[in-house]
Parts: sequence; C-alpha cells; structure tokens
Amino acid sequence: MATILDGKKIAEMRLEILKEEIEDSGLYPRLATVIVGADPASQMYIRMKHRACEQVGIGSVGLELAGDATTEQVLQAVTQLNNDTGINGILIQLPLPKQVDFERVIAAVHPKKDVDGFHPFNLGLLFSGRPQFVPCTPQGIMTLLAEYRIELAGTRAVVVGRSIDVGRPISALFTNADATVTLCHSKTKNLADEIRRADILVSAIGKAHFITREMVKHGAVVIDVGINQLNGKLVGDVDFAAVTTIASAITPVPGGVGPMTIATLMENTYRAASLRTCDTVW
Ligand code: NAP
Repeated sequence: MATILDGKKIAEMRLEILKEEIEDSGLYPRLATVIVGADPASQMYIRMKHRACEQVGIGSVGLELAGDATTEQVLQAVTQLNNDTGINGILIQLPLPKQVDFERVIAAVHPKKDVDGFHPFNLGLLFSGRPQFVPCTPQGIMTLLAEYRIELAGTRAVVVGRSIDVGRPISALFTNADATVTLCHSKTKNLADEIRRADILVSAIGKAHFITREMVKHGAVVIDVGINQLNGKLVGDVDFAAVTTIASAITPVPGGVGPMTIATLMENTYRAASLRTCDTVW
C-alpha cells in the first residue's frame, strides 16, 4: 500500500514553524485579498485564507467587489493595494467574472506583492530557472515532496493539465529539479500510455476518478490536485482506493494538496514582507 502524503499534517507543521518565525522576525506581514462577486466556493476559499493568516500572525484585509464590477474597477482596487505600504501581498481570488480581463488584472499586481506568483514577470523567472514568487499549489507540492524526501532528479514526471496555476508551473519546477517532464492536456494522444510512463504523476484536470489503476505504473508517486464532487463527496482526479494499491506514495483528497496551497500562500506572504525589509532587487 502506498504511503499517504499527508498534506494536512505537513501544512499544520509548516504553519506552526512559520508562526514562530513571524513572531521572532518582528515583522507584521499583511495580505490583501480581492474577491469579485459572491461565488460560494470562492468565498469559502477566502475565509480559509483569512483564517490561516490569523493562525500564523499575518494581518489580512479583504476587498469585496460586486459581481458586475468592471476591469477598471478591479484595476483601481489593485492600484490602491500596490500603493499601500502596509500591504505586503495581494491575492486575487479566481476565477474572475467573465467581464473582467484576467490578464490585465494579474499584470497590474506589483511583482513584489504577487504572492500567488501569476504575474508574467514571476512566471518568466520561474520558467528561466530563477523562481521568486511561485504559484502556491505547485510550490506546495514541491514542499510536500521534499518533506517526504521524494527525489525528483532523473525521474520521469508526467503532468496532466496545463493551467497557469498548476500544470505549467509544476512542469517548470520539476524541470528545475532535474526531472524529465511530459506535460499532457486534452489534445494529448495516447494519454494513458503517457501517464503509465510516470515515476511521478501530477493530475490537475478536474475530472473525478479520471486516473484509474490501469494507467499508473507500479511504484509511481501520485499527486492528485483535482477537487471534484462525486455523489455528494469531495474526490480527486485519481481513483484513490484503487491507485493506492499500486502507487508508492499518493496524496488524498481532501487533505493532500489543498492544505499545502494555503500554507504556501502564508509562506509567500511572509517572504514578501521579508523581501521588502531587505529591499532585494531581483
Ligand atoms: P483548469 O484551468 O481547470 O484546466 C484543466 C486542464 O485539464 C486543462 O489544461 C485541460 O486541457 C486539461 N484536461 C481537461 N480534461 C482533460 C482530459 N480528458 N484529458 C487530458 N487533459 C484534460 O485547471 P486547474 O485550474 O489546474 O484545475 C484543475 C483541478 O485542480 C480542478 O479540479 C481544480 O479545482 C483543482 N485545483 C486544486 C487546487 C488545490 O489547491 N488543491 C488548486 C488549483 C486547482 P486543455 O488545456 O487542453 O483544455
């Protein structure tokens, strides 16, 4: 049976360490969140992020814009937060409503306050092998793998899903860590064959139980990013019960990647506050 990569436990441990670091630092990091509209799932994520801030001693403010806000209105809010020297990190809760130009909003966040790591400047640094702020979910996966001493160098990694928040950045992080990476998506031919070659498999597609036991190589490490509802239950992209009998290690859903994402957001926010005091130039 596979080792369960317990993201909940590791995230709690990291948050405890971070809390002490923040206390000792004398810094008072502050995170601002921006939510547009009243999507219940987004509101829940925002609440979880604010709760984590409270847990570790990070101040947080939440800006709420109406669901029909324009791109200009969201940009105004971002500019205000960029200019606020008391704010270290800015998080734009995704998805944004259709009428709001995602690219313009993300590009407006100051790169040094970009704790979500989506700004083209930060993504560029990541892809050139000199990461600064890295998107929280993939960075959280790297932390989880490191905590369990899972070696990446020389492995064959397969990532399914090419979003800018998960698939693309984790491919870059794996490449930077000397894995050989295949990035798959909905147009990939013979997807099951690609997946079966993986020593390390990451699934970020958002389809319940899409990855079956037959697709997974014996002894593979399986990272399930997906969050899906199935028969009123929260499940991942991976058929956990079946795949756990063939993988060497696997993340559960819930309690795997999700908590690591939030812990990483806290770490990025503290980092943003520390960078400011060091006045580091990238
Ligand atoms: P996304 O933007 O929803 O995109 C889905 C990706 O999956 C696309 O690249 C798509 O390919 C690919 N895909 C869809 N169906 C496929 C199929 N049948 N075969 C191969 N590829 C397929 O991705 P996301 O934002 O990364 O989200 C993915 C899942 O992860 C969702 O369930 C989301 O809720 C979850 N998530 C969890 C966390 C966390 O902290 N745990 C964080 C972020 C996301 P194309 O590009 O070709 O369309």
